[in-house]
Amino acid sequence: MAIETPQSDIIYRSKLPDIPIPNHLPLHSYIFQNKSHLSSKPCIINGTTGEIHTYADVELTARKVASGLNKLGIKQGDVVMLLLPNTPEFVFTFLGASFRGAMTTAANPFFTPAEIAKQAKASKAKLIITLAIYYDKVKELSCDEVKLMCIDSPPPDSSCLHFSELTQSNEDDVPEVDISPNDVVLLPYSSGTTGLPKGVMLTHKGLVTSVSQQVDGENPNLYYNSDDVVLCVLPLFHIYSLNSVLLCGLRAGAAILVMQKFEIVSLLELMQKHRVSVAPVAPPIVLAIAKFPDLDKYDLGSIRVLKSGGAPLGKELEDTVRAKFPSVTLGQGYGMTEAGPVLTMSLAFAKEPFEVKPGGCGTVVRNAEMKIVDPETGASLPRNQPGEICIRGHQIMKGYLNDPEATSTTIDKEGWLHTGDIGFIDDDEELFIVDRLKEIIKYKGFQVAPAELEALLVTHPNISDAAVVSMKHDAAGEVPVAFVVRSNGSQITEDEIKQFISKQVIYYKRINRVFFIEAIPKSPSGKILRKELRAKLAAGSAN
Ligand code: AMP
Repeated sequence: MAIETPQSDIIYRSKLPDIPIPNHLPLHSYIFQNKSHLSSKPCIINGTTGEIHTYADVELTARKVASGLNKLGIKQGDVVMLLLPNTPEFVFTFLGASFRGAMTTAANPFFTPAEIAKQAKASKAKLIITLAIYYDKVKELSCDEVKLMCIDSPPPDSSCLHFSELTQSNEDDVPEVDISPNDVVLLPYSSGTTGLPKGVMLTHKGLVTSVSQQVDGENPNLYYNSDDVVLCVLPLFHIYSLNSVLLCGLRAGAAILVMQKFEIVSLLELMQKHRVSVAPVAPPIVLAIAKFPDLDKYDLGSIRVLKSGGAPLGKELEDTVRAKFPSVTLGQGYGMTEAGPVLTMSLAFAKEPFEVKPGGCGTVVRNAEMKIVDPETGASLPRNQPGEICIRGHQIMKGYLNDPEATSTTIDKEGWLHTGDIGFIDDDEELFIVDRLKEIIKYKGFQVAPAELEALLVTHPNISDAAVVSMKHDAAGEVPVAFVVRSNGSQITEDEIKQFISKQVIYYKRINRVFFIEAIPKSPSGKILRKELRAKLAAGSAN
């Protein structure tokens, strides 16, 4: 169906020409396309053990996993849940599931059992793969339909499977599957512009398009090559790392250094030891590197690209990093899970780089369209006028899993995905993000959905109503704070409320401050007027 665009729309495109994108291919075929000459080249470097898996090893292991999944009864269209830190097994399973025609949903292993159970049940995961230390969090989910597996030995109990069951299979037994480009391959969870976390359906076509927009063609947006060593420290359960680090690195034929967890000294040691050349990170890691007192003890001369994304990078921090690493190409990327995720990327990364401006998030990726609209009227806005950022292209999500209503409020009839972010495009096609319309709170790049905390708060008998908004925070960027209406006669304290929530959520969703209020301001339709609450915070009149 041809998509019609009203005459008045002002549409922005990349400065780079469009390219042919092979998005008819399944994701794994695209990733391993033309890799035969790289078969003995390092592909995945295990940062913990130093073990190196070549391109041939990784493809072979992924095929074995696909065959093993089939033997375990995982069918095409089934969901495999990964509750893992960054490990080679994460990579093998994600690619193996793609070969099998199955979907992967990944969650933060630090989630509480209740948070994990919500995602496992909503996605109908058939197999949950984790580490023995997290096994207790998922034990309760084991049943005839849901199998549990650990990647480390020994399995904590006899009902738990071991990862070797997957890798011992014969790669030739991978069942023939007919994968359509519109089949879902990845199901990350995101709250999007409003409400609770939802399953974001990313298809083979969507991810192939997104990776291709970044690294394919003559003068790619993100210039990776097969000599690069790419740092993979951002968590693979987030789409930024899975797509822009892992999949882009694999497509480019680079070596990917998989680091299980972020710790500044080991990060610097590993970057030095493995001669990391491309470091995609998030602002908190940029800050940790920039502020590290003994930075000159490390030889980081191999780094040529430092990319920040996932949350805003402050101008001061950007300037500090530029001064400390004058020969490094520094730039930002802007992503949103639902957008597949990359919307814009600094053209400083291009093979023949363009000059870019500090504070800018880059220009829209190739083979995509962007427009800026007035959030009230929907009218398309000219350059230099801030409005809601919208994107259109084959890379965006297919929709939210089992949620057509949320899908239709996010992707309009003309195929535009509304991000809930406010920004403008300047005379040089550079996007600047200036505000956020949507509810989501970003703690060091991690999503906190106010609706999730509000739902928990009102289960407390001494709380009659609650609203959660974001508050600026030096170290975390933003933190959630709650406005609470006490039940009649209740004297519940700030500490009691904080503790009540802390027990139920992962650390970064903990409520930082509680403000007591007579009534939560709401619109006639019952929508929380968050703007009013944020204004109270900004004016210092919340107490
Ligand atoms: P997520 O879906 O978790 O990737 O979160 C997406 C949201 O993070 C975006 O809609 C923005 O609000 C924010 N974000 C991502 N990258 C940037 C960036 N470079 N600058 C400012 N905000 C960003």
